Amino acid sequence: MYSRRKFIKVSTLAASTLAIPVKAADILTNEKRPPVVISTWDFGIPANKEAWRILSKGGRALDAVEAGVRIPEADLNNHSVGRAGYPDRDGIVTLDACIMDEFGNCGSVAALEDIDHPISVARLVMEKTPHVMLVGEGAKQFALEMGFKEQKLLTPESEKAWKEWLKTAKYNPVINVENQLYRPDKLPGNQYNHDTIGMLALDEKGNLSGACTTSGMAFKLHGRVGDSPIIGAGLYVDNEIGGATSTGVGEEVIRNVGSFLVVELMRNGYTPYEACREAVNRIIKKKPERAKSLQVGFLALNKKGEYGAYAIQKGFSYAVCTGENQEGLFASKSHY
Ligand code: ASP
Repeated sequence: MYSRRKFIKVSTLAASTLAIPVKAADILTNEKRPPVVISTWDFGIPANKEAWRILSKGGRALDAVEAGVRIPEADLNNHSVGRAGYPDRDGIVTLDACIMDEFGNCGSVAALEDIDHPISVARLVMEKTPHVMLVGEGAKQFALEMGFKEQKLLTPESEKAWKEWLKTAKYNPVINVENQLYRPDKLPGNQYNHDTIGMLALDEKGNLSGACTTSGMAFKLHGRVGDSPIIGAGLYVDNEIGGATSTGVGEEVIRNVGSFLVVELMRNGYTPYEACREAVNRIIKKKPERAKSLQVGFLALNKKGEYGAYAIQKGFSYAVCTGENQEGLFASKSHY
């Protein structure tokens, strides 16, 4: 465990004799800890596996979460994240993503068009600009300047689903569609996929990072941005306390600044599970009737590597990797 005495000793030494600038997080790195990576939904399993390749070699949590969520972003069977995400009501695919590191740095893109891997663009916003968030045309322009290639994101399957949806054009979110993700043909025409990958990792140095990426609600209004690229809503990381991420109807998460709330509750002594449950209950309390027909789930990881999740409705699954073995778990649900 990190000891206060050791901290003081190391920082004094660094300041007086070595004169090497030492970042606060580096000072906490004297002892290695077992890494852990968790992420939302079943598609978190292959994503965690990729993140684990980095974590298991002593890599940085930030690199792990970026690499991890790139897996579902590239998966052409995944219609709620990245490349093959379902379009908005005008048939345009717009992607949202954000990333946050152990120093509290963060980057985000929203309503990004024609560019693959929004998470990597978000990371470059964090690392190469003085800003946190770029949107729409500006985000695309930045990505092109950074060497990303323009490409058509609308796949034939997504286009087919959109045309099917146009027959009724009803905006009717379905709770927990992720389990049918790989069988979109089974969805009735007026229903659609949503679901985001949110990933949190703790590396062996004890540093936390998180990433969150989505194509948002399918058939949304053009220009709609959900919680996923909003720091504090879809993702929040505080390296002293823990991290949280969310999935589900983004508007409700934004209204409650969900992920920030979960982290603050952990700061006040809640376990990750209790913090997620309290954040869900706040959403329900404000709109009990509305909450009956929507899904929001939170996932949290604290500095000790403990994790938990909670959702309004049953069926929210998440993936945990603490070693070579992966686990897929279902979150507890509210009383609905
Ligand atoms: N939170 C995402 C959004 O509102 C969608 C989801 O996770 O289901 O864009």
